[in-house]
Amino acid sequence: MPVKYVFVTGGVVSGLGKGITAASLGRLLKARGYHVTMQKFDPYINIDPGTMNPVQHGEVFVTEDGVETDLDLGHYERFIDENLTKNSNVTTGKVYWTVLTKERRGDFGGGTVQVIPHITDEIKSRFHRSGEQTASGVSDCLHSDDMEIAIIEVGGTVGDIESQPFLEAIRQFQHDVGHENAILIHVTLVPYLKVSEELKTKPTQASVKDLQGMGIQPDIIVCRSELPLDDGIRSKIAQFCNVPKNHVLQNLDVEVLYELPLVMEQEHLAEVACESLRIPCPQPDLSEWSSMIESWKHPQKQVTVALVGKYISLHDAYISVVEALKHGGVANHASVSIRWVDSEEVNDGNAAEIFDGVNGILVPGGFGSRGIEGKISAIRWARTHGIPFLGLCLGMQMAIVEFARDVVGYSDAHTAELDPDTGHPVIHLMPDQNGVEDIGGTLRLGSYPCVLDKNSRAYALYGQETIHERHRHRYEVNNDYRQALTENGMKLSGISPDGRIVEMIELPEHPWFVATQAHPEFKSRPNRPHPLFAGFIEAALKNQDK
Ligand code: GLN
Repeated sequence: MPVKYVFVTGGVVSGLGKGITAASLGRLLKARGYHVTMQKFDPYINIDPGTMNPVQHGEVFVTEDGVETDLDLGHYERFIDENLTKNSNVTTGKVYWTVLTKERRGDFGGGTVQVIPHITDEIKSRFHRSGEQTASGVSDCLHSDDMEIAIIEVGGTVGDIESQPFLEAIRQFQHDVGHENAILIHVTLVPYLKVSEELKTKPTQASVKDLQGMGIQPDIIVCRSELPLDDGIRSKIAQFCNVPKNHVLQNLDVEVLYELPLVMEQEHLAEVACESLRIPCPQPDLSEWSSMIESWKHPQKQVTVALVGKYISLHDAYISVVEALKHGGVANHASVSIRWVDSEEVNDGNAAEIFDGVNGILVPGGFGSRGIEGKISAIRWARTHGIPFLGLCLGMQMAIVEFARDVVGYSDAHTAELDPDTGHPVIHLMPDQNGVEDIGGTLRLGSYPCVLDKNSRAYALYGQETIHERHRHRYEVNNDYRQALTENGMKLSGISPDGRIVEMIELPEHPWFVATQAHPEFKSRPNRPHPLFAGFIEAALKNQDK
């Protein structure tokens, strides 16, 4: 299938919502029948964000095929409703790693290895390719379902030293395949100056000049601004930046994130993109998406759930969990308010006060000991007070520790991750993790199957016996304790098909207490809310009614 490319760069400042803009275009093109895929090229030197601190970098998103990626890939998947792959997130680290491995093997035959052409060639080789990719001749395509569009975002801001090889690769690539097959959208800031009461275009002009200085001419300029752009501003940007006036688009703040595709449709984003790519622009089918936004904007109820974590100073550290909770709300015609609870602040003495007015408690994934006893106290409060509880990964592990301590009676029970000398390691290292020394990329990652007990809440929610969820962990339930847990009333509701790994648990005696070793939040989509999150919010609403 022929592929057309849309590169997306950012100007002036970071944090402009470039990823969301790119993802919105993806949704708009998909609504027109095009096959859409997305990639993110991150200029930092880490191989992947897997080892980066979530407070600095936000959540680590995991793909089906088990790669730790930038959180923007989560937005991409949620907007375009397609699973991405290991090729979807490329970093400078990965590019250099490959080139240096080839150099050590002697692949360059004695040549000097340089940024141009070796690094730029490696970058270009990672731009999405379809099976029968032929960039030339794609303009003949008449049916959108015969064509694939790859939207490729470059992380960081134009002008950063580390993004230069990526921009150079784009320049060369446009030259190789023809500009009409590889266009560029520049997302930039048009700030409003209160004192002079005007929108300023100079920063945008300057960042477009940076691009032009590298031999790149943007095709479309998307301006983030607090106020609408008037005709004069659009003309000015068009004139200074060398683009037609109807290619200068505004991108205002939206109430609901997922509304952006609809707002950008009003701005004709997809139309000007198709025009630049010289492909047809059929009428989009956005009916399902629009009705989803409608019910999102007019909830019939409201419910509050607590999210108990240690990275709460940066809400982006839990972005997929937050989005999945909101999707679960939409499934129940409810809006979900999140009470952010710092796990370091919680203890058995103050739980009543901290969780007052909360109808559900969620403990997400995590690593390390900080705030761990607070998570256990939060779980204890949920278990003993009949408050709906959803535990994800570390959240499930801690639910088992809490249960082993308080119900089974092993007061020193713990996970071997945080207390290697505990007398009751109810959570321990998986056998395949023994002896693993590198911390990067060595977790159990990606999609794994799980078989559900037909007589479980999980089965009722998923509606099927074998499910697949994405994982990112090193520790698992210690099978020596299965009997003690079940004899005391815990149901091991989901087990790996080979019987080795406990994947899900629940407490049948509790109104709604479900936990999973996986990260179901990665698979929730606004138009297809995840059953566990929908079930959790439904239970929280019931708790509220009581
Ligand atoms: N730290 C735990 C483990 O490695 C849980 C990981 C997680 O929550 N993602 O098993």
